[in-house]
Amino acid sequence: MSHSSSVVRSIGVDVGGTKVLGVALGPTGAIVDSFRLPTPQVSDTSLGRPVGSSVADTIAEVLATLATRGGLDLSTCALGLGVPGIVAFDGTLVFAPNLQGAIGANIGALVAERLGRSEIAVDNDANCAAVAEHHFGAARGVDHAILLTLGTGIGGAAIVNGVLLRGANGFAGEFGHLMIDRSGPECPCGSKGCFERFASGSGLGHLADVAMREGTVDMASAASPEALLTAAAQGNAGALAVVDEFCWWLAKGIANLTACFDPSLVVLGGGVIEGHHLIMEPTARHLATAIEGGAFRKPPKLVPTALGPEAGAVGAAILGERAQP
Ligand SMILES: [Zn+2]
Repeated sequence: MSHSSSVVRSIGVDVGGTKVLGVALGPTGAIVDSFRLPTPQVSDTSLGRPVGSSVADTIAEVLATLATRGGLDLSTCALGLGVPGIVAFDGTLVFAPNLQGAIGANIGALVAERLGRSEIAVDNDANCAAVAEHHFGAARGVDHAILLTLGTGIGGAAIVNGVLLRGANGFAGEFGHLMIDRSGPECPCGSKGCFERFASGSGLGHLADVAMREGTVDMASAASPEALLTAAAQGNAGALAVVDEFCWWLAKGIANLTACFDPSLVVLGGGVIEGHHLIMEPTARHLATAIEGGAFRKPPKLVPTALGPEAGAVGAAILGERAQP
């Protein structure tokens, strides 16, 4: 990607379970440079250090690379981190099913220490994505919006009265772990039948497995969520039925969130959504009947993310800018 030394205004990093993605934003907020490294894994004992500090090392390396290329001073410039899981206001990763080795680590403090600065903006990755979509993405100018990122799990965030909802501890928005079926599959969070067990990428895989066992879809079509979506796009009836059931669960979860937040807009992101018009229309159709008083009111509008997989890193950079003195 091209980059220039005078146009970078901030840097954001999105720490995922498999990769650490950094982006540099230019004057208009567009991404002018990006850099990624694999996330250090719990099983990597060769590092000989707690994984929290290994993750901090990797984040610092991504930041250093982008700062050098963009001509920024890491001790003073605007920068922020998005991390997967429940993050306390002080930057401590309280709970993170997809980054288990870093639980309890104060990622913000560990990274700040490596950069020679006193603090760094840290928030949950879905909160960061919502900030980006609200700032200049799909939810721009919208005062009441919900963001759902459908990946391995479901990342969630709410914009209420034009502001990101944080809650008492900064833990608000964990919508993926609303229980919608107590006899449903086990969730990495320790509960059962969470919303994300049905309406995420892995949820789609689960529904495909069930359909395969019941003989309503063939093995080739249900080999992976991607194969299933491809088969559905080609008109495979069994695959279309699984996709429709997926959309029903997704609509059910959105209906629950609508009962709580009354949003006018729901932004949907993640690998399952991107490029799949197959999901939007059936979900909107199910939502119209799933929401309370569906016959008497307008359901929230469903739209795909405008910023795509970079939304989390972009939002982290914006939070970094907002935290600047
Ligand atoms: Zn859960």
